[in-house]
Amino acid sequence: MNLNIDKDFLTGLPEDTFENGKGNYEMVVAHETAVDDDSIERNKGVFGNNGWQDMSAYPHFFVDHTGIWQCASLDYQAWGAGQPANSMAVHVELCRRSNEDEFEQSMKYYTQLIAWLLNRRNLKFKHLGTFYTHQDVSENLGGTNHQDPVAYLKSHGVSVSDLIDQVKASMDSKDVSVKHSASKSNHHSDNNNGGAKMVKLPASADTWKTYKLNVQPVSKNSDWSLTPARYDGLEYKILDEPYNNVVTIDTSKGKRNIYVAPDTNAEIVNGNVLSNNSKSGNAGKLKIVGVSNAAIVMDSPNRNNSNNLGTASLGSTLPLNGSVKGKNSSSGYWEVKYDGQLGYITGKYGKQV
Ligand SMILES: [Zn+2]
Repeated sequence: MNLNIDKDFLTGLPEDTFENGKGNYEMVVAHETAVDDDSIERNKGVFGNNGWQDMSAYPHFFVDHTGIWQCASLDYQAWGAGQPANSMAVHVELCRRSNEDEFEQSMKYYTQLIAWLLNRRNLKFKHLGTFYTHQDVSENLGGTNHQDPVAYLKSHGVSVSDLIDQVKASMDSKDVSVKHSASKSNHHSDNNNGGAKMVKLPASADTWKTYKLNVQPVSKNSDWSLTPARYDGLEYKILDEPYNNVVTIDTSKGKRNIYVAPDTNAEIVNGNVLSNNSKSGNAGKLKIVGVSNAAIVMDSPNRNNSNNLGTASLGSTLPLNGSVKGKNSSSGYWEVKYDGQLGYITGKYGKQV
């Protein structure tokens, strides 16, 4: 299953780092929005255009039956459950759905997102340690009095221990991959593609911590850093992905792990992309535009229900077959030849050339 995260931050948010530092959240708090038949779209309307200031609240994520919206950076605190929780926590809001199928779909996104958030920081699951419901925060940490999402989940026959079981199962599964669909993101991570992959470390990074393979890839365990800026960026073949957002590369000091989470601006690309560049498809070529670094190439024209084949860098071209309407994209999709198969790229990220 793919988690397609629409990363589109609210503007003007405060930038207060977590108590353990930038990006170093220690726990996830599960919420629900308390609005019947709610949706990401409605919340974009309410929280956008500085609506978050009027609400005096915002989480990091909203989840509904169509997917996931990341509205705030994981580098910084959100206003989800008062202090002390906010200084430690990522906040995930679940939109209410009365339809049972839609509820179940939203729960998949919700639990897999929570699992991914814990795994990417190598946080072990611990109820009242690394995982809280908002009710748990009210009862154990204070600073807030909300009781969500307990009653809402119960109305669908789901208990907190069911929620916990689903999150744990997702954490153990290697089946979850994450892609970021909005133009602000360039990261691509995928566990199930056997093709050669490269990781590009941007020239904007002065240093990039590396980790010996036998230590946990957390800052204090780093004994040596790469220096991407000195080489106008660095590129390595990915040898392994031992943890979510951690890849193994071969360096001048031997095999090392590096952290390549979405917020780091590391770019993961399919090493076979370039070999396609000189060929043309039935409709000429597609040039990648409108993204900061790369566009996601999917195996079907439906951004909410497809597998990632890889990425295509900004400015690169692919053999173009034509355009299709597909699903869940107002700009449709381009059909391209990619790595020996058909691939689909969101309409606004390509231009026929
Ligand atoms: Zn809440």
